[in-house]
Formats: sequence, structure tokens, C-alpha cells
Amino acid sequence: MKRAYNFNAGPSALPLAVLEKAQKELVDFQNTGMSVMELSHRSKEYEAVHNRAKELLYELLQIPENYDILFLQGGASTQFSMIPMNLLQEGQVANYVLTGSWSEKALKEAKKVGATHVSASSKDEKHNFIPALENIQLSENAAYLHITSNNTIYGTQWKVFPKVNVPLIADMSSDILSRPLPVENFGMIYAGAQKNLGPSGVTVVIIRKDLIGKEDENIPTMLKYSTHAEKNSLYNTPPTFGIYMLSLVLEWVKEQGGVKAIEKANEEKAAILYDAIDASNGFYIGHAKEDSRSLMNVTFNLSDSELEKQFLQEAKEKGFVGLNGHRSIGGCRASIYNAVPKEACIALRDFMIEFQKQHG
Ligand SMILES: *Cc1c(COP(=O)(O)O)cnc(C)c1O
Repeated sequence: MKRAYNFNAGPSALPLAVLEKAQKELVDFQNTGMSVMELSHRSKEYEAVHNRAKELLYELLQIPENYDILFLQGGASTQFSMIPMNLLQEGQVANYVLTGSWSEKALKEAKKVGATHVSASSKDEKHNFIPALENIQLSENAAYLHITSNNTIYGTQWKVFPKVNVPLIADMSSDILSRPLPVENFGMIYAGAQKNLGPSGVTVVIIRKDLIGKEDENIPTMLKYSTHAEKNSLYNTPPTFGIYMLSLVLEWVKEQGGVKAIEKANEEKAAILYDAIDASNGFYIGHAKEDSRSLMNVTFNLSDSELEKQFLQEAKEKGFVGLNGHRSIGGCRASIYNAVPKEACIALRDFMIEFQKQHG
């Protein structure tokens, strides 16, 4: 068996050890005579998996006790609606920093619920940077400030987080668990699992307990954080297999030495590719400004668009999967989440150098 060089943006690479563990346990989970997928979500075996995933998140991200962890469905995209429905009160204004397509989508949903304000934006420069903290302007009566910690499509990432006197909410779908976090600075953190946490189908919400339960009672039951918080995310059937896979990924992160060790590995992996871009004398052009570069999504163009097509084609033939930029902006993108091994980055770097030798 040969594993692909998988640079998919999401769903994306999972650790081989995790896949093998899941394979081993697939038809008989802990002597139950059935798969995790076949267990009742009310069984003690499933409950242990569910609670272990929560416990590991608390431990790995050092989440304080005054935060709850919820396992929801509907992807990060459903959070774009749930956040204003639950946390934006009459007379308040939802504040958003626009740093890419996902934050724009989040804002679009908030506008349907109530008043909004754009606190800062990188749109005029094709979202190639993260705004400086001093340029973030909160509105009057701000309910919260929403940011996107890593911009999956444009390849930029927040390095320091704003400190504001309203709840800071972050979409961390594409960089959660990639580095240590000052969780206590946030009111809420959320992430679809399919980039750094596991397969698609489960969305992790980390929310400060005092923010739960203030919503209008008429919003749909399934869209209230309080519904899920009160029932340990077992109000209805949760995505049990996804949560099981999440628990395995979290065990793997722990075995790697935790998020600090993962961060170090991520820094090394990203440097391999950014160094290749910087050493290419303009043959490869990075999209993000240097101080805003993402460690998760390395976005670049070739100076010649015909050559870019050829680059992507040849890369594909050589077994590099997922290097096309997002369909909205084109170009090239290497997504190098936690589970992408360093060897894949080295192989891509070598290919980039070789391609430039032949065509530069
Ligand atoms: C992938 C992604 C999303 C979309 O997540 P879904 O789970 O597909 O709804 C939202 N935000 C960011 C930053 C992403 O990378």
C-alpha cells in the first residue's frame, strides 16, 4: 500500500495510526461484538468514548472549567447562524473582522439575525494579511467580536488575538489543535472537525458557560446551545462515529507530545514550503504577507499562469493530491494540517525545485 501525498483542504489527511486503530476495532469494538457505529448512543461503551473525547480536549487545549464543550452537527457553517441567534440580543451589534470567504459567510448569516458591524477588513488587499490589533474598531453596544483564526482559502492566520471587553468568538475550523491557545481570552471557539480533528460530521464548540442560556426562547430547540449543554450533547443522536474518530485523533495528538509538540512540527513543515517559495526568486509567489502566513494552508501562484497549469498537472501526475487553490481564487494551495507528515512537505519542496529547474 502507498499512502498519497494528501494536501487536501478538507476533508483532509488523518494520521495513519488513527486509521489503523479504527480499522482494527471496526467490526468488534471492545468486545461488544459490534462496531462503534452500531452502538446505542445511550450505551455505557459509547458514553465512555464521548466523555473521553471531551476530557482530552480539556486537557490538550487546557480549557478552563468554566467552559463547556459541545459536539454538534451541521458543520461550522451552521455556527454562522447559531452564534447570532444565541448571542446577539435586541439592541446589540454583532462585530466581525473580515479576513476571507469564511468570515464573509459568517457575517452574511448574522445580518439575517440582527445589526452587524465590520470591525476591520483585509478585503481591499485580496485578504493577504491579518489586520493589526489597533485597527480593529468595535461598534457601540457590541455583542461580541467574531474572527476567523485561520483563513483556509487565502492562507493567512492570526498570530496574536485581540483582547476586547466583549466575548471574542473564533472560527478555528482550519487550525484548532495546531498550537497552544489562550482559551480564557475567548467567549467561544468552534471548528468543523474535518481539517484537524477527524472526519466531517461533527462540529466542536467550546463555549464559556455564562454565555449559554441567554437566547430567545422561541429559537428552534436544536439551534440553542443550552439544549446541547444541558444534555452533554446527547439531546438527540450525536454523530457517534465521528466523535469516536475525534477521540482517536486526540489520543494521537497526546502521543505526539501535545499541542506544543504539534506546533513545533507544524512550524518546521510550513518553513520547508515557505523557504522554497522565498528562495525561488519570484518563480513562486506567496499570496499571504510574511507576517500573516498560515502554518496550515500555504497559498502561492506561479508568475506565469500557463506554467501554473502545467505545475498543477505535473504535480498531480507525480501523486500530489489537492494542490489546486480554492475554486474561488485559483492558484496553488498546500494544506498541511497536523496529520500531514513532514515527508510530504519535503517531497513537494523537492518537486517545486525540480519543476523550477526545468521551466525557470
Ligand atoms: C472549512 C471551513 C468552514 C466550513 O466548514 P463546514 O464544516 O463545511 O461548514 C468554515 N470555516 C473555516 C475557517 C473553514 O476552513
